[in-house]
Amino acid sequence: MEAFKSEKVPEEDLKKVKKIERKVRRELGVKEVRLLLAISDEFKETAIQTLFNEEEEPLIMFNYESDIVQRVLKDGTALEGILLHENMHILQEESEKYVELIEKIKKSANKHKNEFREKKKLQELLQTVVMVLKDLMVNDELLKKGEGKKLLKYYENSIRIKPKTRTEIDVDYWNDLFVAVISLVPAWIPFYRNNMRKEGANIRNLIHDKYSEVPIKVSQIGNQLMDELMEMHMPPEQEEADELFDELISLHDELSDTSK
Ligand SMILES: [Zn+2]
Repeated sequence: MEAFKSEKVPEEDLKKVKKIERKVRRELGVKEVRLLLAISDEFKETAIQTLFNEEEEPLIMFNYESDIVQRVLKDGTALEGILLHENMHILQEESEKYVELIEKIKKSANKHKNEFREKKKLQELLQTVVMVLKDLMVNDELLKKGEGKKLLKYYENSIRIKPKTRTEIDVDYWNDLFVAVISLVPAWIPFYRNNMRKEGANIRNLIHDKYSEVPIKVSQIGNQLMDELMEMHMPPEQEEADELFDELISLHDELSDTSK
């Protein structure tokens, strides 16, 4: 993996992350993981990501140059929160839950295949929904294990980072915003689902502040999804997955109308 230049990362930061990661792995019972705290062009805009590869152990990558990683490194509880989250992904990836989830969402997406002129757009939406539901499942499970406070610290730190604003209004910008806002739904809905409404409301307010400069519709997307997601089974029933997918398509259409 020559592209990674982890030698630029201070030794103390590497040690700190590895130490907390070992603790988290022990607690959750996740076996082997490769961990990478590095500076790399390959990360682009992603801050933290877990990659799965059939031949090797899963890899958790931290983009050392990202603002989120820099903030999280200064707060041990937040760091533990995100490592719990990534390790729970690893644990769930091996379970039947994800397979079931992906099958159902694919079926839901298939029902819309004639409405989309660009197949790529439907594929993107499908990937976003899968990502959001995986995050919801992970956070739901962590809250049930009593790890809510750590997760909360992670989101409090990462959400404070303002999105890039663009003066030019183009369709891709709206699409990016849509994906960004949808991706943040798992940061607060699980708290509402698991009797931590106050904490959920706190995160929700942070998200609202983060997007205060963009039209109200964007920040309302999450609120509109709440009905769907509050009671949803994890993984969802087929009917629930269909409803969620329909709702997302209509929200996405509404938003692209705004940009015209
Ligand atoms: Zn995740």
